[in-house]
Amino acid sequence: IKRIGVLTSGGDAPGMNAAIRGVVRAALSEGLEVYGIMDGYMGLYENRMKKLDRFSVSDMINRGGTFLGSARFPEFREDNVRAVAIENMKQNELDALVVIGGDGSYLGAKKLTEAGFPCIGLPGTIDNDVAGTDYTIGYFTALETAVEAIDRLRDTSTSHKRISIVEVMGRYCGDLTLSAAIAGGCEFVVLPESELPFNRDELLAEIKAGIERGKRHAIVAITEHVCDVHELARFIEAETKHETRATVLGHIQRGGSPVAYDRILASRMGAYSVQLLLEGYGGRCVGIQNEKLVHHDIIDAVMNMKRVFKADWYETAKKLY
Ligand code: ATP
Repeated sequence: IKRIGVLTSGGDAPGMNAAIRGVVRAALSEGLEVYGIMDGYMGLYENRMKKLDRFSVSDMINRGGTFLGSARFPEFREDNVRAVAIENMKQNELDALVVIGGDGSYLGAKKLTEAGFPCIGLPGTIDNDVAGTDYTIGYFTALETAVEAIDRLRDTSTSHKRISIVEVMGRYCGDLTLSAAIAGGCEFVVLPESELPFNRDELLAEIKAGIERGKRHAIVAITEHVCDVHELARFIEAETKHETRATVLGHIQRGGSPVAYDRILASRMGAYSVQLLLEGYGGRCVGIQNEKLVHHDIIDAVMNMKRVFKADWYETAKKLY
């Protein structure tokens, strides 16, 4: 291979820039050329790409977001749309593509590989919901952001004897919420995993028991999509007669300068993806497992590999209430 492309897709995550930089610098070191594709698969379809040199990624390692832009582009599920994308890559003489994104982006990468265009996926999402890796690029930064927000809520909750409900991102994966709850010393944690079906009456009983024990505040960390947190706050306030507020952290968690671990992970994974392409691999996704870089078949990772619920973490969190 002589020339590769790189794109970021799906929700942005801190560390995506560091990953692009890793791909670009590693590829240039190996004598390859690199093209950056704008706005994910949409830009691939619209043939918006530009040649990157080592200075294109200068001052990028510490920057949040992705300078290539990212997009949701559901049309990429259609065969004829992907055929145009492949034609564009051929016209630009690309030989392979690195896709930085979540599992939706991985499916696109797999389909391109099956159509004869080798791709490597890097896990870039704050949700830590990609199978085949212990951690995704952006997760640790989002965790710091969530914990900082919880610390601030704790100050005001304690002062006012208030109940705070904090909605944390993660889609259908509770890792971010659970880790933030432990680090933020939250009294209660509600997760989306099927192992723990949400029961608001149980939560209410636990909160009431805490109030009876004389707690000055209660912080509930809950993953997005489990329920309407504002509605939950009204219910708890009505039942406990304690002021209850819900705070949705939202996209705040997506932004900011990546923490050191995310930069290192992104740099290592970026360089590793280039190595895999040079070794002739395609249709693989990169992960880190037990501190080692690994690669798996993308479809296998998306379809068959399951993330293991951190039951022992959850038990620990409950003991520390
Ligand atoms: P995040 O989890 O951070 O939101 P993601 O990569 O899972 O990231 P998605 O919106 O699910 O985000 O997917 C990103 C893009 O990948 C989609 O907008 C689409 O262009 C492409 N994509 C998703 N599913 C498929 C599929 N089945 N076939 C082809 N392309 C797909």
